[in-house]
Amino acid sequence: MAITHNLGFPRIGKHRELKFALEKYWKGDASAENLQQHAAAIRQQNWQHQEAIDWVPVGDFSLYDQVLDMSFLLGHVPERVAYSQAPELDKYFQLARGRSSNQCQCTQAGELTKWFDTNYHYIVPEISAQTRFQLQPKRLLAEIAEAQTSGVNAKPVLIGPVTYLWLSKTKDNTQPLDLLEPLLVVYNQLLDALKKSGVEWLQIDEPILVTELSAPWKHALEKAYHSLKNSPLKILLTTYFGTLEDNLQLACNLPCAGLHLDATRARAEVNKVIDWLPAHKVLSLGVIDGRNIWKTDLTKTLDWLEPIAERLQNRLWLAPSCSLLHVPVDLTTEQEFEPEIQTWVAFAVQKITELTLLKTAINSGRESIAQALSANHQAQQSRRQSPRVHNLAVRNKVQNISAAQSQRQSPFRERSLLQSQHLPLPAFPTTTIGSFPQTKSIRQLRAQFKSGAIDSDTYQKNIQTEIHYCIRKQEELELDVLVHGEAERNDMVEYFGEQLEGYVFSRYGWVQSYGSRCVKPPIIFGDIHRPKAMTVDCTTYAQSLTQKPVKGMLTGPVTLLNWSFVRDDQDRELTCYQLALAIREETLDLEDAGVKIIQIDEAALREGLPLRQSEWQQYLEWAVDSFRLCANGVQDSTQIHTHMCYSNFNDIIEAIAAMDADVITIETSRSNGELLDAFNFFHYPNAIGPGVYDIHSPNTPNVNDMVKIIRNAAAHLPEKQLWINPDCGLKTRQWEDVMPALTNMVSAAKELRKKHAGQTAELKPASMVSA
Ligand code: GLN
Ligand code: ZN
Repeated sequence: MAITHNLGFPRIGKHRELKFALEKYWKGDASAENLQQHAAAIRQQNWQHQEAIDWVPVGDFSLYDQVLDMSFLLGHVPERVAYSQAPELDKYFQLARGRSSNQCQCTQAGELTKWFDTNYHYIVPEISAQTRFQLQPKRLLAEIAEAQTSGVNAKPVLIGPVTYLWLSKTKDNTQPLDLLEPLLVVYNQLLDALKKSGVEWLQIDEPILVTELSAPWKHALEKAYHSLKNSPLKILLTTYFGTLEDNLQLACNLPCAGLHLDATRARAEVNKVIDWLPAHKVLSLGVIDGRNIWKTDLTKTLDWLEPIAERLQNRLWLAPSCSLLHVPVDLTTEQEFEPEIQTWVAFAVQKITELTLLKTAINSGRESIAQALSANHQAQQSRRQSPRVHNLAVRNKVQNISAAQSQRQSPFRERSLLQSQHLPLPAFPTTTIGSFPQTKSIRQLRAQFKSGAIDSDTYQKNIQTEIHYCIRKQEELELDVLVHGEAERNDMVEYFGEQLEGYVFSRYGWVQSYGSRCVKPPIIFGDIHRPKAMTVDCTTYAQSLTQKPVKGMLTGPVTLLNWSFVRDDQDRELTCYQLALAIREETLDLEDAGVKIIQIDEAALREGLPLRQSEWQQYLEWAVDSFRLCANGVQDSTQIHTHMCYSNFNDIIEAIAAMDADVITIETSRSNGELLDAFNFFHYPNAIGPGVYDIHSPNTPNVNDMVKIIRNAAAHLPEKQLWINPDCGLKTRQWEDVMPALTNMVSAAKELRKKHAGQTAELKPASMVSA
C-alpha cells in the first residue's frame, strides 16, 4: 500500500490574500490580529486542498520566508533585532525587510538570496562568534495544534540543521560548522517538544544532499542525524532539486526512518537508492514535478512506478518532487488560457489530485481510475500532437544552425576600429541600461490599452510622446548613447513573450518570489517563432529624434528561458536555441533599420547555473552559444552590448568573454570591487561598463565616488575599454532622482576625460581599442 504526502504548499493564497494582508499590515492599515486571521484562513484552505493525502505538511506556511521562520524557531536572531522592544511579529518583519510597519524604526534587513536553483529568495541566517541558539517553538507548536484541531494528519516540516548552517553567512571568521553542536542541542529539544505535541512523522529537509559536498559537510550530516536518532519521532529526510550522486550512500544510510528523493530530476537514481536503502526505511518518491506547471503523464508514470511499487510494497510513499511553493496555487481560478492549453496544465491543487490518483492506481489497480487515466491520456495526446506546439519550419532552422552564424566577421580589435568610425564617441562614453522611470501615467496608458479603453493609434501616439520626453531628457543630460526608455514594456520577458508564438501568459499564475512579492512566469509551451518585428518601431522613432546614437534594447534568449516555465517535452537547450533564433531575427531587423548599437540583456544568465559545478560547463556552452547566435550575425560596424545584473563573475568570466559582446554593462556598485578581482587573473578583452552607482538606492550618487570607481577599474583594465553607466535599468526610480544622479554621472565622465586627455596626446574614441 502506497502512502501520499506533500512537502509544502504555496502560502500566498489563491488570490494572493497573504500579499494584500501583509501590505495592509505594513502600511498600518490593519492590525496584527487581522494579519494573523488572514494567515490562519490560508492555512485552513491549504489543508482542505490537501485533504485527500495521508500526511499533510505543517509549518510550511510562513508570513514571509521559511528560512527566517527557522531562525526565529531556533532563537537565532541578530542582535540588532533581538534587543528591539518591538513585539515578536515586528521583530520578524524588521529582519525580513528592514522595518515592520511604515511608522516603525528601521534596521538593516537580512540579506536575500536565491533558494537553490529556484526564483524563491530566502533571508540568509547570520552567524558570528556571538551566535547562540535558544528554542522558541511556540509558533510552530500552535500551528501543529491548529492543524490537529482541524483534523489534519500533521507532518511538521523543518529545514535540516546542516542545510540551515550551509545557507548561513558568517559575519566574522566563524565557520558555520563550528556551530553544529550547539545547534543540535536545540534540534534535539525541538524534537522532544514535537513528540509531546503528538507528532509521529517529521519531515526534515536537507536539499544540500543534491550538491557537491566536501568531507566536513558530509561528516556534519552523519553527526547531525546520529545525534537525532534517539528521538522517538520518525524522521523523513527529504532531498530535492537534483540527483544525489556521490551522496547517495550517505543519504540512504543516515539513521532516519525514511528518505525522499526527487524522482523527476533523479529518476535514474531510484533503483540504485532502493538497492542501498536499509529495509526498515520508507522511500518517498517525488513523482509529480513541483517545479513546473505541466500535467503529469499518469500512464507513463504508472508504467514506471508499478514495478517499483511491487518491489517496495508498504515502504513506498508518493509525493511531489519538492514543495509546491514554486508553482501557482489553483488552475481553476485561471481564465486566460485557451481551453486546449488549460487541459495541459496543473497547478498545486491539481498536482495534489494527480498524487491521489497515482496512489489509488497503485493500491487498487489502474482500473479504479480508468476515467481519470483516459482524460489524462487525452490531454497528453492533445499536447503532443497540437499544431500549436510543433512548428516544422522552426525545427528545421534549429537543425540547420551553423557555427558561422554565431561568429562575428572580425575579432573585436578590428571591428572596434570600424565601430569608432561609424560612432564617434568620446573617451569614457556614457549611457544607461535601457529603462527610464515608469511613471504612473505610463502604467495607466498600458493598462488602458490592454483593457481596450484606448485604441492602438492613441496608444502608439502616447508612447511616442513618452519616447520624445525621454530623448529630450537624455540630450539635456548630455549622455552619449541614448535609449528609447522602454515605456511600452511592463516587463523585459513578458514584452517579448507576448509577441512570440509558443508563449502563453496566465492571469493568476502567481508564484512567491520573496515576502509579499510574487512573479507570474510566462509559459513556453511550443516551438518559438517571431511573427513580426517587436522593437523596430520604437527604436527607429527614438533615433529619428536625435543625432546621437540610440541603442536598440532586447532581452536575450537565456534570460527569456530562465524566467519562464519551460517545456518539459524537450531539452532546455533546444528551447534556448529557438529563442535565440527569434531574437536573432530581431537583431538583424534592427540593424537593417539603421540601428548602430543593439543591447541584448542577459540579466539571468548566471542564475541558470546548475547546482552542481560539474554541470556548469555544459550549461555555459549552450547558454553562451545561444547568445552568440542571437547577437553575432551583425556587421562589424554594428556594436553589440549586453547587460548583466550581478558582478560575481570570477568563476564564469571566460564564458562571459566568450559571448564576445562589444560592450558589457554590469552591476558593480554593491559588490565592493569583487568584480574587479576577476580582471587580475583574466585579461578581459572587450569593453566594459562597471555600474558606477546603485540604482536601488534613492540617494544621489556623488561625482567623486563615481570617478573613484572608474579609476579603480582603470587599475585593472585599460581606460579605453571603460564605459560609464548606472548599474541597472531606471524603471523603478522617479525622474526627480534620476536627473540629479545622471547629471553627476555625466560630470564624473567629464572629470575622467580631463585627466585622460592630459595623458594621451590624441583623444581616441573609447570603443577604439588598439593593440
Ligand atoms: N534593459 C532593462 C532595463 O533597463 C534591463 C533590466 C535588467 O537588467 N533587469 O530595465
Ligand atoms: Zn540589471
